[in-house]
Formats: sequence, structure tokens, C-alpha cells
Amino acid sequence: MEIKVIQVSPEKRKAKPSNESQLGFGKIFTDHFFTMTYHAGRGWHDPRIEPYRPIQLDPTAMCLHYGQEIFEGMKAYRGKGGAIFLFRPMENIRRMNVSAERLCMPRINEGLFLEALTKLILLEKEWIPHGSGTSLYIRPTMIATEPALGVHPAHEYLFFIILGPVGTYYPEGFAPTKIYVTEEYCRSVPGGTGYCKAGGNYAASLYAGEIAKNMGYTQVLWLDPIERKYVEEVGTSNMFFLIGNELITAPLTGTILPGVTRDSVIRLAGSWGVKVSERRLSMDEIMAAIAGGTMQEAFASGTAAIVSPVGQIYYREKEYPIGDGRTGRLTGRLYNEILQIQYGMKDDPFGWRLKIAD
Ligand SMILES: *Cc1c(COP(=O)(O)O)cnc(C)c1O
Repeated sequence: MEIKVIQVSPEKRKAKPSNESQLGFGKIFTDHFFTMTYHAGRGWHDPRIEPYRPIQLDPTAMCLHYGQEIFEGMKAYRGKGGAIFLFRPMENIRRMNVSAERLCMPRINEGLFLEALTKLILLEKEWIPHGSGTSLYIRPTMIATEPALGVHPAHEYLFFIILGPVGTYYPEGFAPTKIYVTEEYCRSVPGGTGYCKAGGNYAASLYAGEIAKNMGYTQVLWLDPIERKYVEEVGTSNMFFLIGNELITAPLTGTILPGVTRDSVIRLAGSWGVKVSERRLSMDEIMAAIAGGTMQEAFASGTAAIVSPVGQIYYREKEYPIGDGRTGRLTGRLYNEILQIQYGMKDDPFGWRLKIAD
């Protein structure tokens, strides 16, 4: 399928943000977006890059009522000398199709997905910020658009990709966060959709997130939904603890999101000789490690921040420090290494980088 391109005329283009240190996240979007439409029987059709605009939906569009909505989150990075890189884009593309399957939505051809992504980014390449740690955030999204009420998989969908420049996650430096362990609320259940990037999962997480925020915590640490004992993930990131010299993260059993950053951390740390375990880790074990002085570091991993150090956790009415409350050495090393791979400043021993422009 040929991707049609309808460009915004130069005088109608938006002004690019002048101050990169004030970019923030998720407020500014570029001049164009990619769209493609699906009808049952006909499949995906009319892939096009067109001027960014509001989308029209019938009030009965099924995504609005039954939540058939999935998305992805990835970034394009500007290297020195103008090269543009994606980081393990096929992982996101495949994961979007995994989410699509679980929500009875149509798959997207991987090659076409990557082509659309690359073509759009290259058209908008001037929007990729230059500063260290800044990037162009990419949000592929699929929604059910069929105008009909009644619970069944929709027959019509819209797939779109939007782009927006984002600032560094740490404008004030690499400061450890405080997290709140909830035993009352869960974000997903076995057999549910926890392993998908589906909008409904995030709606379900808001309530506990607000409780945490009101108490002065940045994120919720989710426990397993059955026993409420084992660590799952934190906010919208995967969670790691370094106890002694074992780096521990939850196994992929269907209730957590299989993060691309999670996998990168596992493989990098493993290549440095760190013992990495994907296993269940209970709050009891965490409390014992803190009490016994073997809890070294804790951090969350995700595309937004790479790794985000955790300095304190709140559990059963008490606050506990992790390590010395400062960013741990392994956390810092992982951050720097992944950042440098992403921006083309280092060798790429795992072949994670995809250069889309020189
Ligand atoms: C996106 C996301 C992550 C992190 O995934 P990355 O691919 O590393 O960005 C982890 N948990 C949840 C719930 C997420 O939505």
C-alpha cells in the first residue's frame, strides 16, 4: 500500500518551541499525523500522512462506550551530527499487535507500520529537539470507530500516529522518587489485559494514583491481585530491586506490561555480570532486606524516563528508605548506558538502534 502524503502549506505550520528546557511532556504536537482506516471485509486502507487535526467520531463510536483502544509509546532521538535513531521499534510494533489481538482489534502489517513511522518522523524531523535527554515522543494509537451500540468487536477502526517533542525527564537532575504500595487496589488480574497497552488499564489505575499523589507520593507500586503480596510494577513502569547483588523484577505472567526498557535493563545488567532474576518478590522479602541492610537500590524502568530511582517506599502506614535514599550506582550506570546507546554515542552491542537518517 502506498502512503499518500498531504502536507500542510509552509505558512500554516506551527511555530516550533523556542525553549527546549520548557518542553515538558505531552502538550505539543507536530504539524502532521499518520492515519489509516479499517473496515471488516476490506482490511486496512488509505494509509496517509496528513495535517494534524481533530478526528470526527459518531457519538456511538464503539471506543467511546466499550473501550476498544490501544496505544504504544516510543521515541525518536537526535544524535550528534543530525543522525536520527529509533530504539528497538519492532518491539513496540509487535507489542501493539499483541494488544490488538487481546482486544479483538485488527493487526497491522509490521512493515507498513515501520514505514509509516519512519516516513512521518522524517517529514517532521525538524521537530526533534537537540538537547541532551530530549526526544520526539511517538504515540501510535488504534480506536474502534464503528458507529453502533451493543457489546461486540467493532468492524471499523482508525489507526493513527502522532508525534510531539518532549523534554528531558529530569530537568532538575536525577532525583529519587517516593512510591506508595497499595494493598487495596489492583491494576490488572490474571486472564485480564494487564500485558496490553490498552486505555482501560490506565483508567483503572487512576484512583489509587490519586490517593498516592494526595499523600505526597509520585507513583503507586502495584502488588499481585491474588495474594497482594508480590511486586508487579510501579505506575506505568516496570520495577526493579537490587537486593545484595541480585537484581530482581517481576516475571511476565500476563498481569504486567512487558516493557522494552525492562528487557533492555535485564540484558544489559546481565552482560555486566549482575545476577538478574525474573521472579516473584514479596513485600515481606523487601521489608526483611531493608531491615537487614541488603536493599541496595530500587528503580522503575520505562521509555519516558529510562530508569527512575526510587528513594522511599510507603507500606502499611510506614515509610522506608531504599539504600541511602540517593540514586544507586547500578541505576545511574543503566541510565547512562541506555541513553548513550539511544543517542548513538556508544556502540550498540545488541543491535537495538535503528538509524533512520544520517
Ligand atoms: C509502557 C509501560 C511500561 C514500560 O514499557 P516500556 O516499553 O519500557 O516503555 C511498563 N508498565 C506499564 C503499565 C506501561 O504502560
